Amino acid sequence: MTQYTPMMKQYLSIKAQHKDAFLFFRLGDFYEMFFEDATKASRELEITLTSRDGGDSRIPMCGVPYHSAENYIKSLVEKGYKVAICEQVEDPKASKGVVKREVVQLITPGTVMEGSMLDDKENNYLASVSMFEDDTFTVSYNDLSTGENSIALITDGWDAVVGELYNRSVKEVVVADNFPESYQTQLIERMNVTVSYEKNDELEQTFEHLVKDIHQQKLIDGFARLLNYIQHTQKRSLDHLQPVQKIELQDYMALDMYSKRNLELMETIRKKGKIGSLLWVVDDTITSMGARLLKKWMERPLLRKEDITIRHNQVDGFLSQFFEREELREELKSVYDLERLSGRIAFGNVNARDLIQLKKSLSKVPNILQVLQKFDNDSIQHLYANINPLEDLHDLLDGSVKEDAPISIKEGGIIKDGFNSQLDEYRDATRNGKQWIAQLEQKERAETKIKSLKIGYNRVFGYYIEVTKANLHLLPEGKYERKQTLTNAERYITPELKEKETLIIEAQEKSVELEYSLFVELREKVKRYIGELQQLADQLSKIDVLQGFASVAEKNGYVRPVFNELREIEISQGRHPVVEQVMKEEEFVPNDVLMTQGTDILLITGPNMSGKSTYMRQLALTAIMAQIGCFVPCEGANLPVFDQIFTRIGAADDLVSGQSTFMVEMMEAKHALKNATENSMILLDEIGRGTSTYDGMALAQAIVEHIHEHIHAKTLFSTHYHELTELDESLERLKNVHVRAEEFEGNVVFLHQIQDGAADESYGIHVAKLAELPHTLIERATNLLHQFENGNGKLPERSDEEQLSLFVEEKQPVKERYVNADWTDQLASLNLMEMTPMDAMNE
Ligand code: ADP
Repeated sequence: MTQYTPMMKQYLSIKAQHKDAFLFFRLGDFYEMFFEDATKASRELEITLTSRDGGDSRIPMCGVPYHSAENYIKSLVEKGYKVAICEQVEDPKASKGVVKREVVQLITPGTVMEGSMLDDKENNYLASVSMFEDDTFTVSYNDLSTGENSIALITDGWDAVVGELYNRSVKEVVVADNFPESYQTQLIERMNVTVSYEKNDELEQTFEHLVKDIHQQKLIDGFARLLNYIQHTQKRSLDHLQPVQKIELQDYMALDMYSKRNLELMETIRKKGKIGSLLWVVDDTITSMGARLLKKWMERPLLRKEDITIRHNQVDGFLSQFFEREELREELKSVYDLERLSGRIAFGNVNARDLIQLKKSLSKVPNILQVLQKFDNDSIQHLYANINPLEDLHDLLDGSVKEDAPISIKEGGIIKDGFNSQLDEYRDATRNGKQWIAQLEQKERAETKIKSLKIGYNRVFGYYIEVTKANLHLLPEGKYERKQTLTNAERYITPELKEKETLIIEAQEKSVELEYSLFVELREKVKRYIGELQQLADQLSKIDVLQGFASVAEKNGYVRPVFNELREIEISQGRHPVVEQVMKEEEFVPNDVLMTQGTDILLITGPNMSGKSTYMRQLALTAIMAQIGCFVPCEGANLPVFDQIFTRIGAADDLVSGQSTFMVEMMEAKHALKNATENSMILLDEIGRGTSTYDGMALAQAIVEHIHEHIHAKTLFSTHYHELTELDESLERLKNVHVRAEEFEGNVVFLHQIQDGAADESYGIHVAKLAELPHTLIERATNLLHQFENGNGKLPERSDEEQLSLFVEEKQPVKERYVNADWTDQLASLNLMEMTPMDAMNE
């Protein structure tokens, strides 16, 4: 330590308290990083690494300019890192020795507030997980940007916790120091989550009001940990935090993590983006608050029929009055993000423009109320009955903030005339002074007879009288003091002019100062409305989501589903909400789904790419849409309310955890078999394909039988094991269906039509023939088929590629096409997800 300069010592002592963060150490116009932080940051941010003298050796260092730091911080935080912002907290001029510095904010993936780092349409949740002796957990959530707080008690194990965290796309989880290591590893490695620590789970008195409706001690402790962490990292006002809501998990449809991912509810598996997901189709919200609420609704489809019916009634109401709905949408366009704005008001970082936006939003509320009144629908009335337009807040802002106020809050130009008499006086003084100067110009011109004489102003000399060189002889002696010489003119001042100047500048300075303090005062006043603003935001977002559902229903031809308690599914002409949107030239072929009381399982056969998994997914998506309150893509739907949906659908192989496809398949199946009830839906797509034929087929059959005998959940089961179709003889509630395909002018045409009965087994050979495979080969295949069918002799192991597939070539892993080159093994084993582009290129 002794070798370092005092500043370096200061750096090291602050860094010691923030070991898990990049320390952005403010030095003049830069944030500097040193030692390991510097080497790592230069790599992550692709900025130049330099070094400085550090006694015995050189200290690695790199830095980012203060004014563009936000982008660098963003990039680090997006990668899951934390950034500690260390500022100078005293005036360098006033300090002796090293300027005092402190960490003023810790920016972490779960606590970012800066506008550019947040997605308008997404909540950004920070979570904490606490584990208790009886193996129960609490999961607490906070969105710092909106102030939303909630908590859930989880009694069915760690997997459910993981599902919950996945559900909300949590990026950072706070746990106690002694939280089980294996769980932490899973969070970091499988979920890509940043893990942070907070020992203290005691609730501070200042936060007691937040848990007033929570009566279980576990929940209070669990939540306290989260709050304590936020307080430590943020070090500022948290007035906008809302009372904690307890999430009653049993009130919502349970959708495990696998299913959410497989069904691509929020994002697609491959591109990880919203486009192509269910959310993308059903989102026609206007405001970003609405978009965020919709996401929440999709995370938790409803279970109580009454609640669902209310939403459907409201959608119906909006749907039936097109013009009023359009009018409503128009008004919503001018509504600003009141939720996030409330957060910023509490944090003290709003500017005058934000307040103008707030005013404009509030001025729309009476119009919105008026439009809503035009809807002739009781359930819509409920939506607006309690809306408070906050007229006094609107009037306060209207009377105080100028429409054209600048972004800066320290340079004046914010407060309207007439709001404060002192301010008006200063402004008068300034204005009068300027007028006086204009008159002086007239007077001087008259006296000197110099028409081109003018009075100007610049920052260095203040006000001056300017006379061109040609006219200098007209000036009287002694009256003017020369200040500056230009090529063609001279500039003068007079004592009278300077005196006035002082008055004007003083008044201006005072008025800017006063404006700033008036603005701060105003901001404090607005702060008192945070609770009401948050409530208004809630109401408006709900209206937005529901009108959006109506608008989507109209655009896409959705109908209102009805529900039955007989566990019957009856969908006529159902469509896949996403596939039908992305199909270009071809038309989507609608299909019925009919599963009466007597049918629990549909066994679906048909060649690859014929539409089996589309059919399965469309049923699940339809049920989810119905239960979030949306209308559904079909001509008519009568459905049970599903308590849970389980899926095992290909493609989403768990690459991250490195488990084999088959293991994942079995884990997902286990999960479904363990948790499903007769009110659940299970989708199993080609289960067993990950292992050898006998194994896979045996497992598939056993699973079907188990569901049939013990669970009774509504199940769609697609398979290429043709042998399983015979199960309909022994299993009474199992029905065979298949996807129809036909030959047309020598080509195979998939009709994508679901029909009763099993698929024709020789189909694959038929297709091969059409593809003009050698005649002898076809003959041999036909012979083999007969042998297999007769069941004599051994059934040779059939690999995946030999199923009824048309796309053998595509399915072959890349590696196998280059079997003899060992470098391909090396390439294949690279973990691309973990590499930087530079590493990958070098490799
Ligand atoms: P499978 O599960 O049988 O292999 P998929 O369900 O993945 O087949 O469907 C393959 C492709 O066929 C889809 O990507 C889609 O383009 C098309 N398809 C599926 N169902 C339909 C349908 N009902 N109407 C039109 N095209 C469809």
